[in-house]
Amino acid sequence: MNALAATNRNFKLASRLLGLDSKLEKSLLIPFREIKVECTIPKDDGTLASFIGFRVQHDNARGPMKGGIRYHPEVCFHFKPKQLQFWSALNRISVILQVEPDEVNALAQLMTWKTAVAKIPYGGAKGGIGCDPSELSISELERLTRVFTQKIHDLIGIHTDVPAPDMGTGPQTMAWILDEYSKFHGHSPAVVTGKPIDLGGSLGRDAATGRGVLFATEALLNEHGKSISGQRFVIQGFGNVGSWAAKLINEKGGKIVAVSDVTGAIKNKNGIDISGLLEHTEENRGIKGFDGADSIDPDSVLAEDCDVLVPAALGGVINRENANEIKAKFIIEGANHPTDPEADEILRKKGVVILPDIYANSGGVTVSYFEWVQNIQGFMWEEEKVNKELQNYMTRGFKDLKEMCKTHSCDLRMGAFTLGVNRVAQATVIRGWGS
Ligand code: GLU
Repeated sequence: MNALAATNRNFKLASRLLGLDSKLEKSLLIPFREIKVECTIPKDDGTLASFIGFRVQHDNARGPMKGGIRYHPEVCFHFKPKQLQFWSALNRISVILQVEPDEVNALAQLMTWKTAVAKIPYGGAKGGIGCDPSELSISELERLTRVFTQKIHDLIGIHTDVPAPDMGTGPQTMAWILDEYSKFHGHSPAVVTGKPIDLGGSLGRDAATGRGVLFATEALLNEHGKSISGQRFVIQGFGNVGSWAAKLINEKGGKIVAVSDVTGAIKNKNGIDISGLLEHTEENRGIKGFDGADSIDPDSVLAEDCDVLVPAALGGVINRENANEIKAKFIIEGANHPTDPEADEILRKKGVVILPDIYANSGGVTVSYFEWVQNIQGFMWEEEKVNKELQNYMTRGFKDLKEMCKTHSCDLRMGAFTLGVNRVAQATVIRGWGS
């Protein structure tokens, strides 16, 4: 199922449980604004390359819209190679992607529910550029980011829409956005989060999504009378979220028995040496070739024998094709929408407990909120305070979502959706409809 259809389906199920009327439902579902821009840059070899960028601003009832900017080919939903060749021949433009923002749209909507679940004063947005960042040089990425910022600068802002890193982007991308934005509006560190520390970034932001996954996992396992120590984990994806989650879970005594990333997959039933693997990935730009584990087929990593599975890469990876093969008893969604609704159904019947994305990976946006607060206060917090506050937010979020599960006799996914949707619905109604 396409990401937007899947997200809309979960929203509608939650809306039904909450008994929302159809007008309110419609107003919550339709995005506030969808921005599509073309970004043409000179490549290092002198040819021109053109990329499509999006910013989907979904909802601002609870505060400024908030969400990451993703650089990934999948940002482009429809990629037409024939058109690409035609245009490149005609215009000497080396890359042109025909895109629809379905994926970004779904991710923007998920941010609205996520910030509400986390109870931080934001709405939801998401952006992206259809490109493969591994095929662009640093200076090409800088030019692309600056052109994208020039095209959207008057639609983002400290109290309007605050971007952050996502897949394929990071602190350096945020530094370029901040620099470009500041040329138009003056120095405004709070316009983006996930910045380098020297530009007003928050201590603890880099690890925050992974640390949030750790706190979420602890909350769920404790509820089931278990602890991290002694559990066997599989981590699918070893980027920012997966690698931090693996490191922190491992430090708490969790045994990581399999890991995958874009370069390959490895397993070791006695537990992978995570500090060794982190050093290896740093030097080799991926886990491939790590000799402390056996190499396995990346497609089979989700089906590896373990207690807890942490998907921490792309969306839609757990679907009806592979749901039956999953052996984990718990799934912690470090990625956004990794589980298709059909797989949700199959796994529920198998008794697998799924901790949903809009709660489990909310640590990143929560510390983004702390960063924004520090920028506005002009006062930097100690890392200990950041981590402690994050733990408080994650603990409260779990309690709140369990409360919704009880009220609506539903699973954790619907508990999280009803919690988020209800908070946004209430804010929308209290604000009034205007006249
Ligand atoms: N991209 C992250 C997410 O999907 C973080 C967003 C933010 O910090 O605004 O939650």
